[in-house]
Amino acid sequence: MNSTKEVNGLKITVDRDICIGAGSCELLAPDVFGIDNENKVFIKDNFNTDEETIKQAAMSCPVLAIILEKDGVKVWPEN
Ligand code: SF4
Repeated sequence: MNSTKEVNGLKITVDRDICIGAGSCELLAPDVFGIDNENKVFIKDNFNTDEETIKQAAMSCPVLAIILEKDGVKVWPEN
């Protein structure tokens, strides 16, 4: 199940099906990502975290469960 949020033109999608609850996203961007009681990632409601920090958090995910798009163009994962 995907969950998506768009902030300042940056669209963040998390794929909860592949998330393994490793928690590095939450560690790096605690205002943006949380882990729920199913041990799956969710996107928090209000945050003002800079894009680079969000990208670092996305890059830290071992299973690439965080997808980033900027102005409609996919910026992470790179492929
Ligand atoms: S880093 Fe990836 S696997 Fe770990 S909690 Fe975040 S989204 Fe899930």
